[in-house]
Amino acid sequence: MSFVRVSDISLYLRCPRMVYFVVNGYNLEEKKEESLKRIFWKEVFSRYSLYPNKIEISDVFKTILQTHPYLKSEDLEIFRAVKLRCSENYKEENYEIDVELFSERLRMSGILDKIVLSDEPIPVILRTSKPPSQGIYRSDRIKLTAYAMLAEERFGRVRKGYVDYAPYGIIREQKIRFSDRRNVIRIRDKIFSIYSGKLPPKKEKCPKCEFSELCDVERSLLSDLLF
Ligand code: SF4
Repeated sequence: MSFVRVSDISLYLRCPRMVYFVVNGYNLEEKKEESLKRIFWKEVFSRYSLYPNKIEISDVFKTILQTHPYLKSEDLEIFRAVKLRCSENYKEENYEIDVELFSERLRMSGILDKIVLSDEPIPVILRTSKPPSQGIYRSDRIKLTAYAMLAEERFGRVRKGYVDYAPYGIIREQKIRFSDRRNVIRIRDKIFSIYSGKLPPKKEKCPKCEFSELCDVERSLLSDLLF
């Protein structure tokens, strides 16, 4: 592969071995509940630039059912009681959703959740998990930096980005740091070596994951299973 995907950078930050398994054809299963949550909040998130104005939940449901024909209205009932926030910081600004980005120079590609085209371009990523008590997690900072670096090729200099924890009504700003840019390049190169067949070592304190069984297989047997 000649480009490293930003989604693989995120996966690498969870565990480098997970990238190895996914590259070699294994899928990360998403639970139905998680998938519905992502679809619902993505639709809400797509309706505002940085801060939401009034959003009607019935409109959100209608669009989801049109764009995901395999879903039924009953599937969305769990979101019926959700209180959608309406921010006093709301401002009309141009923005794009699911922005496809790639760079020959950086040898990276990815689909950015949102870019706000204000005085300067501002990348935004959506998170449906709980935010930390302050700031954002390191993995999100690296991911945001990777998208910022890609977005710069098309939209011009990026100085900051945001992580939108939409289900919690919290949005956090993050400066794009030089040290994080260097980390993105370092991780990109490690991922290239995984793409070329390098099996990263098993994590010392492994949190277990969907690949746990595969991961416990002897290294010599692994190549028989994967190829
Ligand atoms: S079981 Fe542990 S080491 Fe193996 S892929 Fe999962 S997180 Fe990584």
